[in-house]
Amino acid sequence: MALHPLQNAEFLSTAASDAQLPPASVAEIAFAGRSNAGKSSAINALANRTRLAFTSKTPGRTQHINFFRLRSGALLADLPGYGYAAVPRELKTHWQQFLSRYVSTRQTLVGLVLVIDIRHGLADLDRQLLDSFVESGRPVLVLATKSDKLTPSAARVAARDLERALHTGYPVHASRISVVPFSAVRHVGLEDAERVIAQWLGLEETQVQEARERTHKEKAPPSRGVTRGPKRRS
Ligand code: GDP
Repeated sequence: MALHPLQNAEFLSTAASDAQLPPASVAEIAFAGRSNAGKSSAINALANRTRLAFTSKTPGRTQHINFFRLRSGALLADLPGYGYAAVPRELKTHWQQFLSRYVSTRQTLVGLVLVIDIRHGLADLDRQLLDSFVESGRPVLVLATKSDKLTPSAARVAARDLERALHTGYPVHASRISVVPFSAVRHVGLEDAERVIAQWLGLEETQVQEARERTHKEKAPPSRGVTRGPKRRS
């Protein structure tokens, strides 16, 4: 049964400093990536929404950590995209420090989703973020996105190369780093990503409850509500 842990996510708050982070009281997953890697598109595809996370061209909230509340009660932290050339050096340093502090010290962070353009591979700033995070022993899921820009066989090779580079770079933590070929446009890799995230959030136990609720609803008379937004595979 598919779990769709990001579906029905709702915007919660924005943080520009440590003091503005929401209380560390529930499990949290974070999405990170270079600016323009495809992070917002990946979040939106997983949430089955078109504009939950804002693309990097939207001015304003992109330099903050945006928090979303998931249906399970867990939080999703959308970290600011890094490496954007037009940002002044001091601001870049400020954000890099904020990010590395967040990923290395946030107690409730259970896993990091790192979005990487499958054609570009691992960048120095990706490594810097991983350096701050992996020591904690928590898992990393790399979404090797825009796989639709390559042929299926080239995408497989690129994802394998990326995984090899990560496992070679972080040999002690290799078993906790996985790579999933992904495309927000073609909806490739959604189920694999959802399975990993659901496991991080310990959602398997709620499966039974959800299945019960669904069965209950199916027995009830059909609702006449209007369906909104794009249709999602079940
Ligand atoms: P962000 O800066 O990491 O949040 O990146 P965005 O999600 O805003 O995506 C940057 C650009 O890449 C946009 O033009 C997207 O339409 C495009 N993009 C994102 N994901 C994909 C994908 O899976 N396939 C393709 N072909 N383009 C994508």
